[in-house]
Amino acid sequence: MKELYFLRCRECGKKFANAPQSYCEECFSPLEVSYDYEALAHVAHRGALAHRAFNMWRYAELLPLPEGFTPTVAIGGTPLVKSRKLGARWGVQNVYFKNDAVCFPTLSFKDRVVGTALAAARRFGFTKIGCSSTGNLANAVAAQGAQLGFDPCVFVPADLEPAKILNTAVYGARIIRINGNYDHVNRLCTQIADRFKWGLVNVNLRPYYAEGSKTHGYEIAEQLGWELPDNVVVPMAGGSLIGKIAKAFCELAHLGWVEPKPVKFFGAQATGCSPISDGVKRNLPRYQPQKPNTIARSLAIGTPADGPFALRLIRESGGWAEDISDPEIIDSIKLLAETEGIFAETAGGVTTGVTAKLIAQGRIRPDETTVVCITGNGLKTTDAIAADFPLTEAIEPRLEAFEALLGQSLDSEVAA
Ligand SMILES: *Cc1c(COP(=O)(O)O)cnc(C)c1O
Ligand SMILES: [Zn+2]
Repeated sequence: MKELYFLRCRECGKKFANAPQSYCEECFSPLEVSYDYEALAHVAHRGALAHRAFNMWRYAELLPLPEGFTPTVAIGGTPLVKSRKLGARWGVQNVYFKNDAVCFPTLSFKDRVVGTALAAARRFGFTKIGCSSTGNLANAVAAQGAQLGFDPCVFVPADLEPAKILNTAVYGARIIRINGNYDHVNRLCTQIADRFKWGLVNVNLRPYYAEGSKTHGYEIAEQLGWELPDNVVVPMAGGSLIGKIAKAFCELAHLGWVEPKPVKFFGAQATGCSPISDGVKRNLPRYQPQKPNTIARSLAIGTPADGPFALRLIRESGGWAEDISDPEIIDSIKLLAETEGIFAETAGGVTTGVTAKLIAQGRIRPDETTVVCITGNGLKTTDAIAADFPLTEAIEPRLEAFEALLGQSLDSEVAA
């Protein structure tokens, strides 16, 4: 059977055969996976999904997988939670949280991109794989790499959160810490992929990696009963996820799986690393690179590879982008936990806080359906909020001790 997908340059449109390559040889713009949608319409049927497990592989026909591919790791299939309290507090009716804080197997949406990237790595014959990472990607590469029998080596900024290092090391992956920020790490990885011919998932395998993000979007549409929302609020690092959710929605409409509908795309960043939201707010033709300085490490990319496309998408969809400060990120993590029972990492604080801001600005309206993308788990960034929750006093295991404690707090409540 002829393959239904190939690589295509996002700027000049030149087509390339499938290969571990991420840049166009003609114009040096990024390549992406493109599909023969006419042929796809004959093999991909929504009805076939009824008998498949709820994880990202249920959309296999819409992903760039090698022929005969059989998934081993059940990735994705995360809850879409309708807001019970936070939406009401914000004065809007239909807010949903797409909760990839509980994505399998490593508790961030990066599990999805590694799923498709490693399928490509196997197809191209790589045994040595790796990535440049702000943390979550390293976790996902290490876990799936171990299970699939690859030999992972990940490259991270030296000052990454200890939990994200540990969550990588435990799978036996080799970790190379680099004195520098993500942009330095990524530049080095481009050279390493060239020199050593390793399969680096977000470098030379990037077109295949990025397609995995589409499943976050497919799931949203399916969980809304095969309908598209009015608004999506998406955290942005390299600016890839936001574009792939848009691509997913377009594909579903094109295949007739959902009614076509204009969806507004809203981007969320931390003020300490906000090249894309800055570009949107100042209406710049292209973003200006920044030097990251924020607790939202997973979003700390000062030169986002897909920034130009994210800018374009946000503008053309009629959406907007915003950013919030580190203290606001912490407040938003707590707010989401207290109201919805979801413990998100710093990136989730960013999305939640930015959503509040967009509602206050009137850019997201009360009667619209809005999906807020929570992309990572709070247990990975506990150091960001630990200082706010000092240990309480310990008491003796006796009833009187508890009564005394209660009395104390009753007294102080009366006194207050
Ligand atoms: C990587 C990451 C993002 C952003 O992804 P891009 O596709 O690079 O924009 C968002 N949230 C979390 C938790 C991430 O790890
Ligand atoms: Zn080109």
